[in-house]
Amino acid sequence: MKVTKFGGSSLASAQQLQKVLAIVKSDPERRFIVVSAPGKRYPDDTKVTDALITYYKHYQNQEDTRLDKEWIVNRYRDMAIALKMDLAIIESIKASIDQLEQLPIANNPYLYDAFLAAGEDNNAKLIAAFFRENGLDASYLHPSQAGLLVSSEPQNARLLPGSYERIQNISNSESILIIPGFFGVTRDNNICTFSRGGSDITGSLIAAGIQADLYENFTDVDGIFAAHPGVVPEAQPISALTYKEMRELAYAGFSVLHDEALIPVYHSKIPLVIKNTNNPDHPGTAVTLNSENRQQPVVGISGDDHFVCINIAKYLMNREIGFGRKVLQMLEELAISWEHLPTGIDDMSIVLRERELTPEKEQRIIDYLHNKLQVDSLTIEKELSIIMIVGENMKNHIGITASATKALSKKNINLVMISQGSSEVSIMFVIKSKHEKAAIQALYSAFF
Ligand code: ASP
Repeated sequence: MKVTKFGGSSLASAQQLQKVLAIVKSDPERRFIVVSAPGKRYPDDTKVTDALITYYKHYQNQEDTRLDKEWIVNRYRDMAIALKMDLAIIESIKASIDQLEQLPIANNPYLYDAFLAAGEDNNAKLIAAFFRENGLDASYLHPSQAGLLVSSEPQNARLLPGSYERIQNISNSESILIIPGFFGVTRDNNICTFSRGGSDITGSLIAAGIQADLYENFTDVDGIFAAHPGVVPEAQPISALTYKEMRELAYAGFSVLHDEALIPVYHSKIPLVIKNTNNPDHPGTAVTLNSENRQQPVVGISGDDHFVCINIAKYLMNREIGFGRKVLQMLEELAISWEHLPTGIDDMSIVLRERELTPEKEQRIIDYLHNKLQVDSLTIEKELSIIMIVGENMKNHIGITASATKALSKKNINLVMISQGSSEVSIMFVIKSKHEKAAIQALYSAFF
């Protein structure tokens, strides 16, 4: 049994849906199909999910929504016409898009989620009908019928305990199930979505629930490359990498798969493969449990910007019991999530994502550190990037950091910080964002 998820660009047009049909028909084990909303057909097109957001805003402000609804329904209708489908399905899609406007605005924390989820939900209905008209025994399955019971956290849902047992019930289905991605239902029967890009999470949860043999994630690239092809055009494709490596790369800029989508399949020991709808014969990138007999120490190099660093220094910091706790407690009270915490004897740095630091929170941090913790110096450095060199095999090689720092020094790139966790699966450098591209290119040349 395979769970096969198709992303928005794979479902954006009639031509793409034909490819998806051919992929599903080519393998009888593809019986659980998870779908995104229609994505972009060309670079400056609008994703249906984004159009639904506009529709939501207009509805909430009680503005005219006619053009929004028309545009959204036409996205489905155009595909159905081009596929020569029976247009009865479009009537039901139209009714469902219109009905969103019947939902209460006041005291409804799930209103936005209901709009967001409509993109996936209606696409699943369309695709099930398209498959049936093309000879497949396919049925649409709402996440509530699939057993996807989630927490009451709008736009950030998590699967509730016990859901895997419920999902398992669908594994005996006779027909191919078409399940909309991106959302589940709460105990009170409200639609609640995962975070953006969350259809990958649905696929992973279904795969874990039915104990699939494989989770296939179809997108619009031949898999994952050893560096971002926009930065290193000659970057080589990665044929296989481990879950840990994938997690590290996804953390710092590799956005092929939603990072929360890795956990369910990883815990259930289900292999994952990332494949290309436009080139389905390409083997893609396999995400596996072990690195097996790979020789190469480094599997990929990633980089991500928009980091800031709070640098604190205080003489005899190492002797002041509780200092670190007080700093971290302050962050907790401000609901700030931090990323890294490199330290010296008398200094400590906190690396955060820029979005965590509002001007108000920044001022409160400055006041607290000066007034309560009486630090000697405090600077907040912005426009920083993180560069990660990733490979589980690095622990068996000596000199990886030496080669990396040599490559960076040749390009005159100053290292603001270096960090390596005890698992040795990655080495992280913090540098100024203006050097990010040059750093990735230099490191790619050094290791590949
Ligand atoms: N359609 C949703 C989004 O654009 C979820 C997804 O595509 O995975 O975020």
